[in-house]
Amino acid sequence: MATEDWLRTYRGKRDFERTREPSGQPAATPGGRPRFVVQIHDARRMHFDFRLQVGDVLKSWAVPRGPSSDPGDRRLAVPTEDHPLEYEDFEGVIPKGEYGGGTVIVWDRGTYEPLSHDRAGRPVDFAESVEHGHAGFRLHGAKLHGEYALTRFRSAQDEEEAWLLVRKGPAGRADGHGSPDPRRARSVRTGRTLAQVAADAGQD
Ligand code: MN
Repeated sequence: MATEDWLRTYRGKRDFERTREPSGQPAATPGGRPRFVVQIHDARRMHFDFRLQVGDVLKSWAVPRGPSSDPGDRRLAVPTEDHPLEYEDFEGVIPKGEYGGGTVIVWDRGTYEPLSHDRAGRPVDFAESVEHGHAGFRLHGAKLHGEYALTRFRSAQDEEEAWLLVRKGPAGRADGHGSPDPRRARSVRTGRTLAQVAADAGQD
């Protein structure tokens, strides 16, 4: 999708007079490895937003239960609209009544290594692998480390498009704590919980 098209979708849902989310500036030239971010979003339904930089956008999935460090857990991931790269910094309160109204913290972020390859083991362009519904990658975050994969199991033609986010590796091996409790989890940026970010926003 051309930049103007996805940005129009993203901007069309938001009133930037009311929300402090970024409106989307022209992308900075990214150097080095692509970025990922996982935000916790206390919206109508609590969820995690899992975002991977692909080119000049953050490809995004809403993951209701969050990523698990246990390969035995398969987590539902529902695609949402592409977000601008600077969204990885966004932490704060989206006003009630606005699109996605609720509190957001940056739970984890870092870089990732694309690992996608075809059946013959040859590396595949990452954007293409996402397009085709299966992408493998190794996360280098403050909290999330290791190999994960996102796989589409239901296409938009049927009903709501749906993917699974799975930790790769021997089942039963968890090097984290499964999934974080979203209400107790802290921002990797500021160390704050959702409740603290909400309280701080109320004081501006
Ligand atoms: Mn969200």
